[in-house]
Amino acid sequence: MLPLVYHPIYSQLELPANHRYPISKYRRLYQHLTEDLDLLQRSDIEIHQPVPVQADELKGLHHPDYIDALLNNTLPAAKMRRIGFPWSQQLLDRTLTSTAGTRMTVELACRYGISIHLSGGYHHAHHDFGSGFCLVNDLAFAARHALTLPGIDKVMIIDCDVHHGDGTATLLADDDHIITFSVHCEKNFPARKPDSDIDLALPRDTNTTDYLNAFSGVLHLALAQHQPDLVLYDAGVDIHQHDELGYFNVSLAGIYQRDHLVLHTCREQMIPVAAVIGGGYRHDHQTLIAPHSQLLHAAMDIYLGHRVPSLEPTFTQEKPHDGRA
Ligand SMILES: [Zn+2]
Repeated sequence: MLPLVYHPIYSQLELPANHRYPISKYRRLYQHLTEDLDLLQRSDIEIHQPVPVQADELKGLHHPDYIDALLNNTLPAAKMRRIGFPWSQQLLDRTLTSTAGTRMTVELACRYGISIHLSGGYHHAHHDFGSGFCLVNDLAFAARHALTLPGIDKVMIIDCDVHHGDGTATLLADDDHIITFSVHCEKNFPARKPDSDIDLALPRDTNTTDYLNAFSGVLHLALAQHQPDLVLYDAGVDIHQHDELGYFNVSLAGIYQRDHLVLHTCREQMIPVAAVIGGGYRHDHQTLIAPHSQLLHAAMDIYLGHRVPSLEPTFTQEKPHDGRA
């Protein structure tokens, strides 16, 4: 069984014109999986819909005043700008639902060995402030929740989004039962990168081969050293060569190999994986569907023995270099 977690609210957010956040990608990804791939017809794939977390549940992880200010729209304008979204009830509802979605993904992964959240990876949310499109740190929240489940004594967060997982690193710095592992571009947002338990910082323009070689080596060492009972995997696709906020030179096929490597390695070692799709930024939101859907393709290959034909398109455009964040 391969459970997917999704809610239509993920793409329901009014944003100013030309906002960088690819809000429609969640709906487009879901549509692609359910309509083009017809996954709902498969008996071995289930879609689960989360119910929003209660704001009070977040007050152990985040500062209660920060959560209350989010709820009441009393955050100072500078703090909202750092988050990067205008405040709205939709934004709040979407955040609480997505946070619940990552928690649900963890629970399903413990039951089935694998689960994929078609959202999640808000790793720039800190204890008392949000940043970089992240309000609530769903990864830290779900990892803490995992430790309350039977048989889970150690969790590893493997964060392969191109941006450093700074919020996760600081929130969980003193938590010996959660290992934070960030693989990221050394010269990219956020400027300040507090130590994760394991940081693999790679230079700008790292290519597919170098990326996979470096990551594979550290991945195997990290798993051997820490032997987690659960992996939370942020499969951000902003490592792609054409991503507008990333500076790596990794191909679409390279992202598939990365996803396959993580899932295959964890399955071999019988470690359940709760995966989230993470970042991926392009003005043409539809171009994000191929890279993001590969996570599901890799999971179908490994857990269901079903090989999905490659979606590798022909890219012709030059990579823009004006990205930030
Ligand atoms: Zn990112």
